[in-house]
Amino acid sequence: MIEKDYYEILGVSRTASQEEIKKAYRKMALKYHPDRNPNNKEAEDKFKEASEAYEVLSDPEKRQIYDQFGHEGLRGTGFTGFRGFEDIFSSFGDIFGEFFGFGGRTHSGPTRGDDLRYDLQISFEEAAFGKEVELEIPRTTRCNTCGGSGAKPGTHPIPCPACGGRGQVTRNQGFFSISTTCPTCQGTGQIIPEPCPTCGGTGRMKQKRKVSLKIPPGVDTGSRLRLRGEGEAGERGGPPGDLYVVVHVQKHDFFERDGDDIYCKVPVSFTTAALGGKVEVPTLNGSETLQIKKGTQSGEVFRLRGRGFPRLRGYGRGDEIIQVVIKVPKKLTKRQEELLKEFARLEQDHPPEKFKSENGFFKKMWN
Ligand SMILES: [Zn+2]
Ligand SMILES: [Zn+2]
Repeated sequence: MIEKDYYEILGVSRTASQEEIKKAYRKMALKYHPDRNPNNKEAEDKFKEASEAYEVLSDPEKRQIYDQFGHEGLRGTGFTGFRGFEDIFSSFGDIFGEFFGFGGRTHSGPTRGDDLRYDLQISFEEAAFGKEVELEIPRTTRCNTCGGSGAKPGTHPIPCPACGGRGQVTRNQGFFSISTTCPTCQGTGQIIPEPCPTCGGTGRMKQKRKVSLKIPPGVDTGSRLRLRGEGEAGERGGPPGDLYVVVHVQKHDFFERDGDDIYCKVPVSFTTAALGGKVEVPTLNGSETLQIKKGTQSGEVFRLRGRGFPRLRGYGRGDEIIQVVIKVPKKLTKRQEELLKEFARLEQDHPPEKFKSENGFFKKMWN
């Protein structure tokens, strides 16, 4: 990028006096001031360019460096120009006062609207499969009637007569003069002679807005979904804020989640566990049949591949891990009791691997 010459930007000679530089800048600033050229990118660029040129040329030290070494020289001093209007107005507030007969701007620049947060409860299944929801968001928006100006259609805000548009009033007290925020306009420098009937002059109104949102499968409690521009309206034409939807997943009656996997405890009768067999197990997609092998122990786990949550990063789904809980009947019929007693007698002849514990439980207990 070729950097333009600061003298050329302001249209002054290299020997121009401070007064001439100031005059040239004043002319450009008046012409390209963002308040007079709303949404005009070209004017904005010109305004920024002129302000940068003025910042350098109005400062004898910077001007000297620039004269000798050009743009390169200024970079050596850490000069980076302006980041935006706010920068310019805060640097040249006083000068604008001189130029326009009031403060740098009658009010501060456009401000971005606030972000909003919405807490959304969804079920465990909805978290697994995603859902399309419609939210009703109470928020402030720009008033439709006045377009945000706060003035009744056909009328305009006028400079505050109490402070002459400065936003500040000066009182003389003895030898001193004291400046305070103008009580008539609260420092905005403007008053609205005829307020908009819809918003009462605030330029904003409360509105419930419907926003539809696609919840992606796999979200978890604490997941934040951002909806750009769905927050509060900006002030003075600023952009709106964003809406953050914070997800809360309800607890499930029998599933628990760990990352992409889900856990579930399934009761199995002691006979099925001993003999092996089929049990119905719940999954997120409905019930399925699980084959239990002969001699299944209480607490043993089975894994159903791909029955967990969709992986938020990557493909496929996690697993469902089923832990078997062996149920001992609380009540027995006479016949069942007879058979179990018979079984017990047989057990004495063929003892199970009695104290040979795999996990060392008994060892720990007795030693
Ligand atoms: Zn209004
Ligand atoms: Zn005022």
